[in-house]
Amino acid sequence: MSQLKWWQKPVRMMRRDYMTDLQRMRDADLDELARSKKEDWHINCEWVIATPGVAPGLGWQTTFNTCKFPKYEALGDWDLIREYLPYARKYGLHPLAYLNMHWYSYDFAEAHPGWEQVNAQGTPYGRIAPLYGSGTTLCVNSGWRDWAIELVRETMRTGLDGVFLDGPVIYPGCCYCPVCRAKFEARYGAPIPETEDWSDPLWKQFILFREDSMAEFLRDCRAALLEVNPEGIIFLNGGSWHGGGWRVARDIEKVGPHEDINGAEAFFHPGSRGQMLYFWATAAKHLRAAGKPAVVFSHHALGSWHYLPLPPVEAKLAAAQTVACGANPWIAIFDYAMDQAAEETLTPIKEINGFLEANEEYCTAAESAATVALLYSSQSAKFYVSRVDDLFADTANTSERDLIMTRGSGEVIADLARRKSLCDGWQHHTYQGWFEVLTREHIPFDVVLDSGLTAENLGRYQTLILANASCLSDDQLAAISAFVAQGGNVVAEFEAGEYDELGNPRGRNPLRELLGIATIEGAFAPATAEEYVEVGNHEALGFRAGRWLPRPVNCLQVRASADSATPARVLNPIGKVYTAPRGVSEWPAMVCREGSPGRVVYFPCLAAAMYGQYAIQDHQQWLAEALRWAHGGPMPLWSEAPGTVQMELWRQPGRLVLHLVNNTGDGLRPIAETIPVHDVVVHVQAPPGATARAVSGANLALAYANGALRLHLPRLDLYEIVVIEGV
Ligand SMILES: [Zn+2]
Repeated sequence: MSQLKWWQKPVRMMRRDYMTDLQRMRDADLDELARSKKEDWHINCEWVIATPGVAPGLGWQTTFNTCKFPKYEALGDWDLIREYLPYARKYGLHPLAYLNMHWYSYDFAEAHPGWEQVNAQGTPYGRIAPLYGSGTTLCVNSGWRDWAIELVRETMRTGLDGVFLDGPVIYPGCCYCPVCRAKFEARYGAPIPETEDWSDPLWKQFILFREDSMAEFLRDCRAALLEVNPEGIIFLNGGSWHGGGWRVARDIEKVGPHEDINGAEAFFHPGSRGQMLYFWATAAKHLRAAGKPAVVFSHHALGSWHYLPLPPVEAKLAAAQTVACGANPWIAIFDYAMDQAAEETLTPIKEINGFLEANEEYCTAAESAATVALLYSSQSAKFYVSRVDDLFADTANTSERDLIMTRGSGEVIADLARRKSLCDGWQHHTYQGWFEVLTREHIPFDVVLDSGLTAENLGRYQTLILANASCLSDDQLAAISAFVAQGGNVVAEFEAGEYDELGNPRGRNPLRELLGIATIEGAFAPATAEEYVEVGNHEALGFRAGRWLPRPVNCLQVRASADSATPARVLNPIGKVYTAPRGVSEWPAMVCREGSPGRVVYFPCLAAAMYGQYAIQDHQQWLAEALRWAHGGPMPLWSEAPGTVQMELWRQPGRLVLHLVNNTGDGLRPIAETIPVHDVVVHVQAPPGATARAVSGANLALAYANGALRLHLPRLDLYEIVVIEGV
């Protein structure tokens, strides 16, 4: 472990933000500031502002002295970085520069014609959608590129350990500047399509071109950084898993190879009642899937009320969920918040970061003990536009509230951009749905990316969840087939593998045979009310035979192959609420195959997306039981604890490390109070003689039976780590 670099070990990052009042840092006691960060906040890596992200877009001014860039005026001759650096070093903090790379004032843009990102009409993005109310944004392919790379070089000359780039962001509808147009045409032999057109192969190339432009920019920034400091690190605000991410050209699979850490924002905002419980965990596992250190950025701010801290429980859960999933926590704290209530702001972070600092060894070089892999397919997120027309009938908006019934228009949406937007939503909810099912059911799992669909990587798992991974390459399909041929199990949904990696329909989908699909003949009209699935008798079902479940909104009409079982069927459409049911149709809602040699479950419907959106308990059970059946043998752990108790299992030489995060709150977000969970029982597969202890010192009762260590934890507050030795 000693050969690990500092940033490959557990890090706790922080940015203390002074907004426009950077002189407050100049006037502070720098020794005390650095001491406090180390000893009170318990961080070990700090972002120091090098170019500020403040109104009206001052990303072009530096806080340090250089003859190459304008200085942030209020600091005078005072060099914020060089003055502070010795104190950061004294307290063992690794200092990184924060470089705002996406927000520039109109004045600056006007002094540099041709640098702004523009839309197809040639209008700068920042003039149509002023950033944060005022300011614009620049193009990675324009003359700004060299300016920015020199800024990275000059920043590193201050002696920092690395840089974080906040941006660039290629904004929706951009960039059509002359340099981008020329570069695209030189690469693809044709102009950039002027509008979003998913039937045009060049449009898809444009989507990739934008991402490649980001990756090439980062690659060149990194080369400049390494010229100055070969040990320096670089990373950027890389974006996460959310549907529609293609609009801002963010994909960790593209930028990942050129950065040392994968990081993305997961800022909690009050107000959206549907806020996901496992908000930070979903980001952490996705980032971690790229196989390098990951950082989840959680503002220590009450959403857009930046000068108030996150409520204590949310602040702690952000860090706990993140670290439990193998990523590192990061907070930004605004200096004014410390003016408001220093102790209240500090205490939750002090507690959680102090806990993490004390238990670093259990998070160092740990490897996942999961045997289930959930695919996050960014190809599908980018290029999936279903060709099944029936799915786009506008019939899915049925709702009834206060005796008022609303219905969709019934027309079939033909516009591909609208179809794409719907498909973006399906992909989003599918990943979210599976993530929440698995987490709430205490099924240890990793996220794998498209690039992880290789024989070598899949060989680590027993079961692969493809979900609706619609857009896969020939090689990826071959890797999946090889995985099953070697005994791997698969759970797939809907249109898995029906399109190539660019979203073009396949003449023949080799996955169909594996999934037990004979033909796909159409789809039911989407419906959000009064339609059902009837389950039969099968080991893959955890319900009594004959029971009805809500039918997922989107269901294909699929015929199963002769060697498959169809233990659930869709009811004939009822069409209207408060209308009598019309019997069971011939169309399966679930297809099961076994013995080839792996087990396969295929859902011809968007079952996980339904759960992601509606969180109906029946669907959680349906998906989880199907997965358990496909998996065959026992999971590495199992537990009857509530779904709000997150369990993540890691392996280190000679031991397992179990993270338990209690997300049980008082029914509202933000959560005001953690409700302790009593008598948490977890069974962990382990050899006889294995023993366990809780790092908090809590009294664990242990018993051994049937190849598993039974742990009984009398009370779980917010976070616990259990170390299982002798495995
Ligand atoms: Zn451009």
